Amino acid sequence: MSVRVRFAPSPTGYLHVGGARTALFNYLFAKKHNGSFILRVEDTDQDRNQEQSLIPLLKSLKWLGLNWDEGLSLDKNNNITSKGLYAPYSQQDRLSIYKEKAMELIKTEKAYYCFMNPEEENKQKQQAIKLGKSFRVSSPYRNRDIKTAEEKIKQGQKFSIRFKTPEQKKDYKLTDLVRGELSFPSDSLGDFILIRTDGFPVYNFSCAVDDSLMQISHVFRGEEHLSNTIKQQLIQKALGFSVPKIGHLSIILDKNKKKLSKRSGSESVEHYQKEGYLPSALMNFLSLLGWNPKTEKEFFHKKELIESFNIEGLNSSSAVFDEDKLLWLNQEHIKKLSTEKLIEILDSFIKDIQTKKTELEKLIPALRSGFKTLKHSAQILNLFLQTNFELKESALKILKWPNSKTLLTKWKIFLQESKKDHLSLEDFKKFQKESKLKGKEFFMPLRCALMGQPEGIEIKLLATLLSIETLIKRADIALKQC
Ligand code: GLU
Repeated sequence: MSVRVRFAPSPTGYLHVGGARTALFNYLFAKKHNGSFILRVEDTDQDRNQEQSLIPLLKSLKWLGLNWDEGLSLDKNNNITSKGLYAPYSQQDRLSIYKEKAMELIKTEKAYYCFMNPEEENKQKQQAIKLGKSFRVSSPYRNRDIKTAEEKIKQGQKFSIRFKTPEQKKDYKLTDLVRGELSFPSDSLGDFILIRTDGFPVYNFSCAVDDSLMQISHVFRGEEHLSNTIKQQLIQKALGFSVPKIGHLSIILDKNKKKLSKRSGSESVEHYQKEGYLPSALMNFLSLLGWNPKTEKEFFHKKELIESFNIEGLNSSSAVFDEDKLLWLNQEHIKKLSTEKLIEILDSFIKDIQTKKTELEKLIPALRSGFKTLKHSAQILNLFLQTNFELKESALKILKWPNSKTLLTKWKIFLQESKKDHLSLEDFKKFQKESKLKGKEFFMPLRCALMGQPEGIEIKLLATLLSIETLIKRADIALKQC
């Protein structure tokens, strides 16, 4: 049996890092087994503008490098289409299929028309709460004959379609690829709805039908879906479908061990893209959330991940989204990039980058090890590339310190007498010694004269990488404020 896995997001306008982790594990599993990775969208919630909210999600998946083999496809003009043997892949376009399958269940008496209104259901719920019992709907329509029900429908009565959950004494059993054998109490399910009164299928129904019709062999998804799985498997069995193997991934917590919160949008993949993280680093980081390669190795490229990924390494204990670790991995991935590649991807972070190529080719090898993100790299590089050197507000006060003027005058003379293009590290150390100043009194005014601000990158780097001509120009500007 060939491996076919899917990622089935509901369109929310962005790709959540938790969703990205789910997509990644499915992707890795498919690639490892020469299988197919399918992208389906679960968009039967009518209140959302589906197409618009889907585009950023598809773009993030592509940016992350999770290229899918089948499913929705986004062309250059941002039009969404469906490509593959089991099209359409948008559930909005599959409503007739769910209707047909629901009818099949009605005919075989595995589901029934239910005419209960929300008030009646709510009444039952309140009653259960009062008695301290767990709520399971009890529909008076469970065993009514189809003909009478169809008459009611003809007369215009509103109805939903409910699953006739088989009564059983034994617990429900589930073999989970990550968690092993699980069981759920036999009374944990009532007759749940398949098709709502508005005619739309509920998630559990459309998902169960599609997973089987699309020949999905394995499903990896978040643990929040555990209780849905029982319902979905019951539906699949009732329809005589095959049931995919399933694994529920660990929950992702933030550093404070709370469920990953929605702070300032930093839970989206797009956020990390904008902040200048590399897709390879984010992929590497996400892969270690709930999967353990069982070696000391933490740095992985996509190819290595595909080779190493295995179900045995998946674990159910909660994973912690540690931003410091992500930053460290990002730094490591940046170190591995060629200068040429780095210039190419810094394009959206440095203005007119093509005109600065020659300069960047010299600067990047010397500075790269300190680059944390692309944004951070650009900030550092811009300190060197600045043609219009400006003093920040924070520099002005420091330049007024009693020793600043003498220091910068000596600095300028030292530079003029150097008669070279660039200072060496030894030259710089010599100047420091001759200045007879130490600590703050030396570094702060000099930093201002080098980068226009009292904080930033290591001063030695700047002093040796900028040309002496530029250093003199900057010293002159700073001296005017002393
Ligand atoms: N649409 C569901 C979600 O976004 C998919 C769950 C599943 O993978 O079955 O949570």
